[in-house]
Amino acid sequence: MSSIIQLLPDHVANQIAAGEVVQRPASVVKELLENAVDAKATDIKLIIKDAGKSLVQVIDNGIGMSVTDARLCFERHATSKIRHAEDLFSLHTKGFRGEALASIAAIAHVEQKTKQEQEELGTHIVIEGSKFISQEPAVLPKGTSFSVKNLFFNIPARRNFLKSETVELRHIIDEFQRVALAHPNIYFTMYHNGSEVFNLPNSNFRQRIVNVFAGKMNEKLVPVKEETEIVHIQGFIGKPEFAKKNRGEQFFFVNDRFIKSGYLHHAIMAAYEGLLKDGAQPSYFLYLNVPPNTIDINIHPTKTEIKFDDEHALYAILRSAVKHSLGQFNVAPVLDFDR
Ligand code: ADP
Ligand code: MG
Repeated sequence: MSSIIQLLPDHVANQIAAGEVVQRPASVVKELLENAVDAKATDIKLIIKDAGKSLVQVIDNGIGMSVTDARLCFERHATSKIRHAEDLFSLHTKGFRGEALASIAAIAHVEQKTKQEQEELGTHIVIEGSKFISQEPAVLPKGTSFSVKNLFFNIPARRNFLKSETVELRHIIDEFQRVALAHPNIYFTMYHNGSEVFNLPNSNFRQRIVNVFAGKMNEKLVPVKEETEIVHIQGFIGKPEFAKKNRGEQFFFVNDRFIKSGYLHHAIMAAYEGLLKDGAQPSYFLYLNVPPNTIDINIHPTKTEIKFDDEHALYAILRSAVKHSLGQFNVAPVLDFDR
């Protein structure tokens, strides 16, 4: 009997993994922005063409990479962010899987320019469909730039599956806003087809929210603050009268990471009980800090879901903190206790 099992070559494994990590141009935006944040950049630019179908470029002024790392970063499971399994329980970075760049390079044309502060010259690498095309030393500013062109060039089914430019751009803006809201101390700009879409100078949480959403945001916001052993909560909620029909202004961040949680959303809705018209959605921008060893963010490659050790306690604390803020700002219905 002959054996028939083979190990997949790396470029095939990368392309398969890419299906999980990269669903659309917005996934590339998310991964590149998060890498720039992890690289301690203070200034991050996102440049998009044709809603990311022709180009997604992220330029940062972060720590850059050595010549060796500039090449190594495209290998699968190549990461500078964790070394041991235990490190998963004390994460202070967005990334840790070491999968994003390998995946992106497997299904696009990628150009990378990177330089560390102390080096005279940086590195310029071109890689297409996991194949190294060129690598040269180059005169560059400190930091890193990744250009991703022709996404899904070798997976036509995926490329054809992309939605209209309006839809893809919406997804990109969502990702951009999430990262920008999580990091008000970083200067973010975004350009689409040569026009500026966002210009967000570094500031505090409140000012960042106002800059991202413009309009009358400032007068809508009520601060929330609560500190307990299991969670520190800060951020803002919207006054009930400004509640919207859609959920476009609802954000949870846990340890600087945007997350989705139907359960925590329910806690907020419970706090607003009796204050909202049917179906109205309050705005909230809530930043939760928990000890890293009390959460598991390893559930899904895109890392927007999280598992908390003590979900019930978190629910109760969040609900009461929001309720308290609503009450303090006199937005609760007047209860007649003296009768
Ligand atoms: P992960 O972020 O999970 O480590 P990635 O594939 O996204 O995996 O990146 C691989 C490695 O490349 C990172 O661990 C980091 O060392 C390096 N890297 C990626 N982007 C940047 C950047 N913008 N600046 C500096 N280093 C980077
Ligand atoms: Mg990463």
